[in-house]
Amino acid sequence: MNFENTLSFANIVDHKDPLRHVRDEFYIPKNEHGDELLYFTGNSLGLQPKKTKDYILQELEDWKNLGSKGHVSAKRPWMKYHHHFKKPLSQIVGAHESEVVSMNSLTTNLHLLMISFYRPTSSRYKILMLNNAFPSDHYAIESQVKYHGFDPKDAIIGMGPMSTESLLDENELLQQIELNKDCLALVLIEGVSYLTGQAFDIKTLAQQCQKYDITLGVDGAHAVGNIELALHDWGVDFAAWCSYKYLNGSPGCVGGAFVHQKHSKRFDLPRLSGWWGHNEARRFLMESTFDPMEGVDGWQLSNVPVLTSAALLSSLSIFETVGMKSLIEKSHHLTGFLTFLLQENCKDTVKIITPLEESKRGCQLSLEVKGGKSVFEKLIQSGVVCDWREPSVIRLAPVPLYNTFTDVYQFVQMLSEVA
Ligand SMILES: *Cc1c(COP(=O)(O)O)cnc(C)c1O
Repeated sequence: MNFENTLSFANIVDHKDPLRHVRDEFYIPKNEHGDELLYFTGNSLGLQPKKTKDYILQELEDWKNLGSKGHVSAKRPWMKYHHHFKKPLSQIVGAHESEVVSMNSLTTNLHLLMISFYRPTSSRYKILMLNNAFPSDHYAIESQVKYHGFDPKDAIIGMGPMSTESLLDENELLQQIELNKDCLALVLIEGVSYLTGQAFDIKTLAQQCQKYDITLGVDGAHAVGNIELALHDWGVDFAAWCSYKYLNGSPGCVGGAFVHQKHSKRFDLPRLSGWWGHNEARRFLMESTFDPMEGVDGWQLSNVPVLTSAALLSSLSIFETVGMKSLIEKSHHLTGFLTFLLQENCKDTVKIITPLEESKRGCQLSLEVKGGKSVFEKLIQSGVVCDWREPSVIRLAPVPLYNTFTDVYQFVQMLSEVA
C-alpha cells in the first residue's frame, strides 16, 4: 500500500477497509466529556466486545434458573464448556484441535508444561531464554531450575539485550543453541517480545532445536491473536498464552495451552494432574487412579471457570468471523501506516525500536522518544492511551480489530505537537 501523509488519506482507507465494521463490535473507552480515547493498549488489555455482556448474562441466567443442572442443561453445558474453544484457538495458533485447550492462566500453564517438558539430567539441564523476557517468565524459569536443584546462574543462559537498547540478533540465538547443544534441555522464548515488539522466527528456531533434540516452548502472550502462527507445522513442543491481551478475553481471563501432537501419548512424562485431565468418559465415575486423556487435554486440572470463559468465547466468535488472514493483512497496513507517518513527521524525535519488516513484528511498535516521560504524559493528557516502560519506551499497538487509520493519523499529529 502506498501511504500518504494526510488525514483525508486515512479517512479514505478507513472507508474502504473491509474490516471497518468490526470496530462497532467493541466498546471504545471515553474521556469525561464522552469523547472516544485513542486506545492503543490492546497489547496489554484488549477492549470489551459489546456481546460479552450477553455471553456472561446467559451463564448467570442459567445458573439462576438451573443451579447445578446447568452442568448438563445450560444453553452451553458447563461440563463441556471448554470444548467450544478448540476450534477457534486451533485456528488462531495454527494447531490441531487436540493440541489446544483453554485453562488456568499463563504463568500457571508455563509451570505445568515445564514440569513435563523440562527434564534436566546432570549433563543436560540448561534453559535458554531472553535477557529482556517478561518478568514472570524469569521468575517461573528460575523457580523451575531451583526446584530441580540447579543454580539459576549456571543453568539459565540469557540471550540478547538486557533492556530495550537493541533487538535480538536471531543468528546469534541459533549459534548459542548450537554452542550449547550438549547442555541445553529447553529453549523458552516469547513469540513476540512484549518490550520491543520484535517477532521471532519460531519456524527456524524450532528447526534448530529439533536438530539437537532440544525442547522448544513458546510464550505466546504477545503473539496469539497478533501474528500468524503455525505451532503444529513448526513442531513447537509446547506453548502457553494469556487471553486478555489481543484475544480481548477480559482482565485475568482464563489462559490457553498447546502441546504438540507428537507428545499426545507421553503418559510417561511427569505431570501435575487433576480430575479435569482424567479420561472424560469416566471422569464422573470418581475413580482414584488417574487415567490421563490424550493430547493437551490430559494436562487440565480443574473444571471450567465459566464466567471468564464466556467472556473469551464472545471475543473468539469475532475472530472466527474475521479470520486471522484478513486481520493480519489489515494489521500490516495499519502498523505500516504508523511507521510511515512517524518517519515522515517525527524523524528527529522518535526512534522506532521495533523492526520495520512486516514479518519481524506484530501490530505493536515500541518507540524511544526524545523527551521521554514528559512526552508520554502529554500524550495521555491529550486522550491517548498507550503505555510507558522504564527507562524510555512508549509502547503502542494499533489493533486491527478496532483501531483505525484515522486513529493512527491523529496519534502522530499529537505526538509531533508534543515531542
Ligand atoms: C502478559 C504476560 C505475562 C503475564 O502472565 P499472567 O500469568 O497472565 O499474569 C507473562 N508473560 C508474558 C510474556 C506476558 O506478556
